[in-house]
Amino acid sequence: MMGVTEALFREDAYLSTAEGKVTGINDRGGILLDRTNFYATSGGQPGDTGFFERSDGTKIAVAGTITGETKEEIIHLPLPDAVRPEIGETLVLHVDWARRYKLMRMHTACHLLSVVCPYPITGAAVGEDESRVDFDLPDAGVTKEGVTADMMALVAANHPIFTRWITEDELAANPNLVKSKNVRPPAGAGRIRLVCIGEDASVDSQPCGGTHVSETQEVGEIHIGKIEKKGRENRRFRIRFGALPPV
Ligand SMILES: [Zn+2]
Repeated sequence: MMGVTEALFREDAYLSTAEGKVTGINDRGGILLDRTNFYATSGGQPGDTGFFERSDGTKIAVAGTITGETKEEIIHLPLPDAVRPEIGETLVLHVDWARRYKLMRMHTACHLLSVVCPYPITGAAVGEDESRVDFDLPDAGVTKEGVTADMMALVAANHPIFTRWITEDELAANPNLVKSKNVRPPAGAGRIRLVCIGEDASVDSQPCGGTHVSETQEVGEIHIGKIEKKGRENRRFRIRFGALPPV
């Protein structure tokens, strides 16, 4: 059947290399595989870049990864002048790990921010150097210094991060699990992936399909670079790597 790619990153976010077999090339040159460790753009996290290695050692540069007609179909976008692999060919899939690992740390930092600021989320975007999370938060009684200190306390505590699957019925029975105001977790798949922080999810759990580090300490030093007012009821928080710069 066309259209379903086994998403290896979902069970193991640390799979920097893997093997996949070419199942198709779409009309725009996108490469489809039976399985992949390349994360496809979704939920505010950009898709992976990297390269595919053929058995003769030649490389096919991958400039991006997206979902296709369904979320289950993953399409790898080669550079326009890259050679095309053959259908049925097995490739070694190398994710640009330095970039992805930064995205994993940043994505996890967004979860920590949502623990520190328990307000409805209206938007989020994960980036290599900066991420942003928008909250429905009318009063800016929070400071970047305070939020940074609270986030770093979670980092220092080195809480475990793990995933767990629940049914749609379990989610329906616990509607407070969903922090995002506008984005609902995909319904119809029958099961929902929860990302949990802390022993027995004592710190947090929320539906998410992205890639995360496995302990909060791996996030490293982060800070809130800016809290911007976006309309009367919205605040945009910008997360950056490194220590809070001195005033
Ligand atoms: Zn996540």
